[in-house]
Amino acid sequence: MSTVAFLNIGMHGHINPTLPVVAELARRGHTVTYHTSPAFAAEIEAAGATVCRYPGGDPSLPDPPTPFTLLDGLANAALGLLPTVLADLRRIRPDLVVHGSMCPWGAVAARELGVPAASAFTTFAFNRHTPSPTRVSWQLLAAAAARPRTARSYVRARRELHRRYDTRGLPLLDLGNVRQPLNLVFTSRAFQPGAAGFGPSYRFVGPSVGARPADPSFPAGSLRDPVLYASLGTVFNDHPRLLRTFAAALAPLGGTVVLSTGQTDPAALRPLPANVLARPFVPQPEVLARAALFVTHGGMNSVNESMYAGVPMLVVPQGADQPLVARRVVELGAGLSISTEDATPQAVNALARRLLDEPRFRDAAAILRAAQREAGGYLRAADELERHLRGGGRARPAAPADPRER
Ligand code: UDP
Repeated sequence: MSTVAFLNIGMHGHINPTLPVVAELARRGHTVTYHTSPAFAAEIEAAGATVCRYPGGDPSLPDPPTPFTLLDGLANAALGLLPTVLADLRRIRPDLVVHGSMCPWGAVAARELGVPAASAFTTFAFNRHTPSPTRVSWQLLAAAAARPRTARSYVRARRELHRRYDTRGLPLLDLGNVRQPLNLVFTSRAFQPGAAGFGPSYRFVGPSVGARPADPSFPAGSLRDPVLYASLGTVFNDHPRLLRTFAAALAPLGGTVVLSTGQTDPAALRPLPANVLARPFVPQPEVLARAALFVTHGGMNSVNESMYAGVPMLVVPQGADQPLVARRVVELGAGLSISTEDATPQAVNALARRLLDEPRFRDAAAILRAAQREAGGYLRAADELERHLRGGGRARPAAPADPRER
């Protein structure tokens, strides 16, 4: 049996898909450790890993992040975390490091220790045709020019990382897209744009949806059909105006409208229509299993989970990779998209009505549901990691051996 060390950034969207993989590896008898921020320690421990806490509480990443501020945050977080992370890992002596694709300190640590590594993509895989939000672009350079202090801070952090550690393999800029000889992508090939352009190191394992701890406070039994669900996720979610808009637009169409309010106190949204159930956090996979429609910010996990449940979406992208995700949902016919500025109650109501009334959206969502399930999920992710361990962490041969990688 092996020891697998996970390292990740402290965000629900990045951690959630790894939890069923951790649980599966632990079930198969491997020892799993997980470097994380205190907010996620309990969940990760419950999945079966030994938690190693990052020093100094949560690494400070911008909230909500823009691509450029995120890069600076990641470079400086790497600098701050690496001494502790390396000391921990030298004690743990892992056989494999699995890090989030936005976790450069995981890649540096693996290299410093000479341990094989895999990267976990909770967004799309990126290349020239599907560009990463943090790759070099005119927008990124303009953002850097507008924030010279942040730009200097980034350059300083990168220089210092290079001076202290083996940073080979880290992209010069694109720290949101740190690749390894094995890259687990938590979506299906069907949803990945231009999937054929990715080599055998990319394994599209689909959404990793496992059992989550039950939330007995959620009144699942009182939901009435059709259940309409709206959420802005866990990062870009301080937007009372938009949440009120969703409530007003969906209430006339729903049995129950479930509204995940995030950082907005549900009390601050009152008065809400009587059939709106507003909670800061809801058991999303459970709600999606009942839902006829999902109004979402287009976070990759939310969209993956929605496709996994075969639920059509109205995507209102807020930032990060969400515009890309929204475009893909529309392209595949599984939903519609609207910008935040255009999202009035009338406009959202009209689009939601179309999504409920026109069967083609449900049909496209059903096709994606099948693709998402066939991709293999967390069981396949665990298989891939074990195969990577057996292969000593080396890159894959050009011809994919797995029939699911067609
Ligand atoms: N989530 C949840 N309940 C909520 C809101 C979000 O369980 O009320 C979970 C959701 O299932 C998903 C994650 O939080 O796994 C959000 O990730 P996503 O990538 O969609 O968006 P982000 O929060 O990173 O913007």
